[in-house]
Amino acid sequence: MNAPFRFFTTTVREVRRLSPGFTRVTLTGPDLHRCADNGYDQRVKVILPLPGGGFTINQTPSWYADWRALDPAQRNVIRTYTLRSVRPSAAEVDIDFAVHGDTGPASAWALSACAGDELLLLAPNADFDGDPGGVEFRLPAPRTPILLAGDETAVPAIASILERLPPSSIGEAFLEVPSADDALRLDAPAGFTVTWLPRPSSFVDAVVAAALRLLPHATPDTVEPDDDEPLWEVPSAAATAPVYAWIAGESSVVRDLRRRLVGEVGLPKSAVAFMGYWRQGLAEN
Ligand SMILES: Cc1cc2nc3c(=O)[nH]c(=O)nc-3n(C[C@H](O)[C@H](O)[C@H](O)COP(=O)(O)OP(=O)(O)OC[C@H]3O[C@@H](n4cnc5c(N)ncnc54)[C@H](O)[C@@H]3O)c2cc1C
Repeated sequence: MNAPFRFFTTTVREVRRLSPGFTRVTLTGPDLHRCADNGYDQRVKVILPLPGGGFTINQTPSWYADWRALDPAQRNVIRTYTLRSVRPSAAEVDIDFAVHGDTGPASAWALSACAGDELLLLAPNADFDGDPGGVEFRLPAPRTPILLAGDETAVPAIASILERLPPSSIGEAFLEVPSADDALRLDAPAGFTVTWLPRPSSFVDAVVAAALRLLPHATPDTVEPDDDEPLWEVPSAAATAPVYAWIAGESSVVRDLRRRLVGEVGLPKSAVAFMGYWRQGLAEN
């Protein structure tokens, strides 16, 4: 009966513009105290109301097939986001939207969101007895250096990972953002260096240089030729490699990083999560 993920009916409690590029939406709902607080990069599905309001999603186990079978005009838009914060005792969650104007429905929704607006969430169920899934970060062995890198869409996940890491963790984080004003305040372990890279930036070169610092004598591996598929390559368990890396952002940039980190630096594929969070010019679905 207790599914790993469940629907939560929510309303907007507060909207805060954190910077020109980020809007934080705080949601509340009658059941949100049952939303699991798993931290790290826990992903959720955000289900937007139809343009005229309301939801046609069946909140049943067959919801996805039912949703696909609907007339597109009657289908709620579904997008993937990260739980930035979960406060079960207050029945609240925060989602940080990297806003990119009206070019996508989720961004447009966040930019116009007001207290009282409705949103449906598909999020991890605190009543589920087991691993609900949707967290890709794997905590490596103590003292293993961690490399985190991403663009603005990965900033919420990187911020949550940094907050959840044991205080003795060491490593480097690189965050590429639209402007210098988008460098948010983050809590990171003392042994972490956090570098914000406003565009235009040398993000890929900076991450490659960090990998070379962390792993100077590795043997480069072969990299398969690029294809057009969304990039999602995630080790299922923390590898016993000398470094662990978690990389997310625009798919072609992550692909470029994969080619260089594996093919030039020699970062073992088994020790890196490479995730295309979005694709330039393409809507999520
Ligand atoms: C696991 C996971 C977690 C994620 N977590 C977050 C998160 O916490 N916060 C967050 O902001 N995003 C997050 N994303 C990314 C987010 O799902 C995408 O950016 C999504 O496409 C936004 O939906 P949209 O409706 O605004 O745009 P879409 O309708 O999907 O796309 C419309 C157009 O906008 C472009 N576009 C999409 N995103 C951006 C962008 N950020 N900047 C510029 N152009 C863009 C597309 O290429 C397309 O041309 C996450 C993605 C994944 C897979």
